[in-house]
Amino acid sequence: MHFHVITLFPEICQAYTDASVLGRAQKTEKGKGAKSRGKKIAVDYYNPRDFTKDKHKRVDDRPYGGGPGMVMQAEPVLKAWQKAVGLKRNQPKVKTLIMSPRGKQFTNELAKKYAKQYDHLVLISGRYEGIDARVKKALIAEEVSVGDYVLTGGELPALSIIDATARQVPGVLGTYESLEDERTTTGETYTRPDTITFKGKQYRVPKVFLSGDHKEIEARRAQK
Ligand code: SAH
Repeated sequence: MHFHVITLFPEICQAYTDASVLGRAQKTEKGKGAKSRGKKIAVDYYNPRDFTKDKHKRVDDRPYGGGPGMVMQAEPVLKAWQKAVGLKRNQPKVKTLIMSPRGKQFTNELAKKYAKQYDHLVLISGRYEGIDARVKKALIAEEVSVGDYVLTGGELPALSIIDATARQVPGVLGTYESLEDERTTTGETYTRPDTITFKGKQYRVPKVFLSGDHKEIEARRAQK
């Protein structure tokens, strides 16, 4: 699956997508037999500033009709989109999402759907008061929100969506982690050591977790 992120701050996002599970999923791993893995995902970044004709590289302007703040201009974003997926003619498997606090709520169900149905996911991050509404029309894009709160930019929402979607792409998680994902909830978990001391008080791992009785452990984990 190929993710394309349109953002004024690619460097913030790339540090995240290059690390850990997402970083590994973008690499080919050499190994013996089943252990050798191909690239599972690709992540590319496009900065609207690289697509503006303005000599000061401005990509925002005042809103028509007045109102507070500035609005991201449509053209640099549209050009960035064209660079990303514009040449993929007749590609039904391209989905374009605009990050917006007024959008449809993003869920794990949507992550599964994106991973299954699309080859290219374009994520457009807003800044300032948002993006010129013609971007949504021209790209037949969908607005998505990551929650009922307002952030200063669409970078964290875009990263959340990439992260949740990538882990639904087969092979991105290890077998063990994938199995974990099939459970409704992981519940309480503990790791070594079995006793820790904090502010003079001891905290022990509940006995059941040390018992080796998997049925009992599952039952305990199922508790809220
Ligand atoms: N007054 C604007 C707020 C813009 S916030 C409005 O009502 O739309 C600036 C940018 O941050 C938005 O363009 C969007 O891309 C991003 N953003 C902020 N909160 C978000 C959320 N909950 N979900 C998705 N994107 C969000």
